[in-house]
Amino acid sequence: MKKRVYTLYRVSTLGQVEKDDIPMQKEACRAFAKAQGWEIVKEFSEKGVSGFKKSAKERDQLQKIQQAAMAREFDVLLVFMFDRLGRRDDETPFVVEWFVKQGIEVWSTQEGQQRFETHVDKLMNYIRYWQASGESIKTSIRTRTRMEQLTEEGLYTGGVVAYGYRLVKRGRINKRNHEVYDVEIDEKEAEVVRLIFQKYVYEGYGAKRLCNYLCEHNIMGRNGQNIPNVSIVRMIKNKSYTGYLINGKVETACPELRIIEPELFERAQELRQARKREKGANPVSFSSQALLCGIVFCAHCGNRMSLTSSTRKRIRADGSVVREKRFRYSCNYNVRHPGQCDGQSGYGVTKLDDIVESVVRMKFAEIRECSRKKLLEEMHSKERERIKQEVRRLEKELEIKRQEQEVLKDETIRVIRGTSTLDREMLSELLAENKAAVAQAHEALQAAKAEQQSLEQASEKMRRDCDDLFTWANVYDSADFAERQAILHQFIQEVRVGRDYEVEIVLMVSLEEFEEFKAHSMVSSVGKKGQMDLKQAPKTVDCDSNAGIVIVDEISDDPLSILPKNTAHARIAYCER
Ligand SMILES: [Zn+2]
Repeated sequence: MKKRVYTLYRVSTLGQVEKDDIPMQKEACRAFAKAQGWEIVKEFSEKGVSGFKKSAKERDQLQKIQQAAMAREFDVLLVFMFDRLGRRDDETPFVVEWFVKQGIEVWSTQEGQQRFETHVDKLMNYIRYWQASGESIKTSIRTRTRMEQLTEEGLYTGGVVAYGYRLVKRGRINKRNHEVYDVEIDEKEAEVVRLIFQKYVYEGYGAKRLCNYLCEHNIMGRNGQNIPNVSIVRMIKNKSYTGYLINGKVETACPELRIIEPELFERAQELRQARKREKGANPVSFSSQALLCGIVFCAHCGNRMSLTSSTRKRIRADGSVVREKRFRYSCNYNVRHPGQCDGQSGYGVTKLDDIVESVVRMKFAEIRECSRKKLLEEMHSKERERIKQEVRRLEKELEIKRQEQEVLKDETIRVIRGTSTLDREMLSELLAENKAAVAQAHEALQAAKAEQQSLEQASEKMRRDCDDLFTWANVYDSADFAERQAILHQFIQEVRVGRDYEVEIVLMVSLEEFEEFKAHSMVSSVGKKGQMDLKQAPKTVDCDSNAGIVIVDEISDDPLSILPKNTAHARIAYCER
């Protein structure tokens, strides 16, 4: 009896259908069957199904063939190439193996019979399918690449256009002769995007508060409804606002599409990360009453203090009643566990805010004394120069060792030829030594390069931090409440307050960074004001609100300003980097 054959012809994409290679597969299979003396009883063909995207279960034809196999309706499954059977590397071998286990021979006109007899067979099959799968991925990549190419050329390739942009027709024609769209900035929407970033970065607004704010100001989305906070979060994350067309992994700079300056965008990302970290631990970080809400901690029990308010009735001399709302930073732990925290249960918001602000103003005055240009120029400059030299030296060393290696290799050849004066043993010793030296030099170079890179990154971070500090220092005095609040939250890591307003302020700035400031402050002030010295710097501050505070700086450890009524102590500390 002739073997009964089922065939399956398949083209994987519509693009391939246009070329229509099924007749070719058909011819090849028919010729192959004839040569083998088989009889084709049924032919199946699938068009426009990419084996890569559809799993076997979803493919009707393959299912029909499987059912027929179980019913023993045929003996051989013949395909043109095995990749016609399916291209999903995770399942194809199992599909083929399944047929083989049903007693069906699986053949390809190009690759012969598919066996699953030995481990090697299995392995070979996996490799073959893996390659086929690679092909499929390549096809998929090719179509995607065309889109990405267009993106690379700065052209719009479809999809919803982000808020802040709109589509226009500029007469660009595609291959199919259709006029296609381009993207441009929608000024009205772009204004809203800018507002969102401004509020987010400089005024400490979160997505929820921004959502309310926009709604209150009747700023609506495209559908005429309010802009939900998830959309705001998406906008904050959307890099295309800095002037990019983005499609998958391809980003193309399109400066004409810039709505947000890259620095502002970066800042927003840093804030977003920082807020994400604090989420949960710090639910209310901004309030319209307290500057420091969310960063005040009880110095006695270490817990974060929350904002509480109480209303007091006051009867004026004329008999009229005034209700006053007073805000306090309260230690909840102290209130809930009496006797367990030996601090005060709370501290007046106005008083604590004043103390902290006076210290901050003093610090900002110090910063303003410093020559920004010089600071930025000299930042880490010595270290950077040192590591640059080091890298250069190690590169040279490695080069020398490698040259030596070449010489030794040449010498080896001479030893082999018998024309060298060195003996084999000595040469191999030298070679081993050299090998070790090369490895060592290579390692040292890598280490130095890594150090160089991390130093560059640190410098970059510091440069941005300094930019921030200068900005804050310059605008603080004229800033409104919300802006001051935002600046304080970025400048101060935490405020620890204890009994009798013993305050410790931990700045977000590292001691190293501040030392740089101080160094440049002194350099720059010598020429101008004679012997201007940091310890006197606070005196240049208008310190009305400062009265009665003793400020001790971690750097000097000497009290910086002692005033007669010292009702509070403030100590400045720096964060550790
Ligand atoms: Zn406490």
